[in-house]
Amino acid sequence: MLHVGINGFGTIGKRVADAVRVQPDMTVAGVAKRSPNFEATIADDRGYDLYAADGREPFDEADLATAGTVHDLIETSDVIVDTTPSGVGAANASLYAEHDTPAIFQGGEDAAVADVSFNARANYENAVGADTARVVSCNTTGLSRLLAPLKESYGVEKSRVTLVRRGADPGQTGRGPINDTLPDPVEIPSHHGPDVQTIFPDLDIDTMGMKVPTTQMHTHSVNVTLESEPTTEEVTSLLTDESRLFLIPETLGIDGAGKLKEYTRDAGRPRGDVWENCIWAESITVEGRDLYLFQAIHQEADVVPENIDAIRALSERTASAEKSIRRTDEALGVGR
Ligand code: NAD
Repeated sequence: MLHVGINGFGTIGKRVADAVRVQPDMTVAGVAKRSPNFEATIADDRGYDLYAADGREPFDEADLATAGTVHDLIETSDVIVDTTPSGVGAANASLYAEHDTPAIFQGGEDAAVADVSFNARANYENAVGADTARVVSCNTTGLSRLLAPLKESYGVEKSRVTLVRRGADPGQTGRGPINDTLPDPVEIPSHHGPDVQTIFPDLDIDTMGMKVPTTQMHTHSVNVTLESEPTTEEVTSLLTDESRLFLIPETLGIDGAGKLKEYTRDAGRPRGDVWENCIWAESITVEGRDLYLFQAIHQEADVVPENIDAIRALSERTASAEKSIRRTDEALGVGR
């Protein structure tokens, strides 16, 4: 049984902890928090041992028991998943190295933070036995899952993606916009293209980013020029076979992220999480060598199964991507 510590119990960290808990081959060693806020009480309610990232006094004052400091958590963990805010992970890297504990970072960090930038479908093998890996951002994860099978089956000459991004996560009350549509970043290409190239170094990809007033999901408008000329039906069939791509059937009547989230809440998914890329099936269109489609990406959720696979890769418990992905998906309920 692998003991997994989680440093930073926020949007991503709490989901990773719950996902670790349901895996047959791993258990939560504990979670580190800085402040005794509502998420700390949730960690306590769920029975996760709480470790203090910044001193135990605030937790004592809030009457929340701590099992030790973040150093103790790192020492007792076989693998640590750092889910602290962007930039904090890089500052924590030396801590994990000091304890010789393999560490997984998130997409808010620069690629240089880790030995490998990771996406299970695209490059699991590169992380097997590495000391550190960075699970790429929600958008890069979504694009990597889509591009990997396209590259393998048809070759990709050029990708062009416009990312219409949610302005904030639901709990980020200080972010926006609340009444505007922003080119963001204004620079072209946006940082997303170079980030995808940390997974596919030879990929030709241009990306443009926007921000809009929603907290639900990101939406990608995708155009990929392929090296061969499959039919629309062939591409649809290829993508249907991918476990982390959900092709939304026209019959479901799902017209956007709102209904998608409603669908997963109705289905009883934890927090209404959508772990899969959601591709509108009827948007898949091939004209000559050009493929077009729309996909929605749940920013709070799609990186969660990837973190689980990264844990297996670093710990060298599972050498094959396929086996790890299947195990993760079965335990979490991805694709169901
Ligand atoms: P978050 O702010 O929701 O959670 C971060 C947690 O870490 C909070 O509980 C915070 O109190 C805690 N924290 C802050 N400093 C700490 C420290 N020094 N030690 C321990 N804990 C500390 O952030 P998030 O959205 O979960 O993002 C975490 C990482 O995941 C970032 O790199 C982000 O870019 C990446 N990511 C976020 C999303 C998303 O949409 N939320 C998607 C993919 C990747």
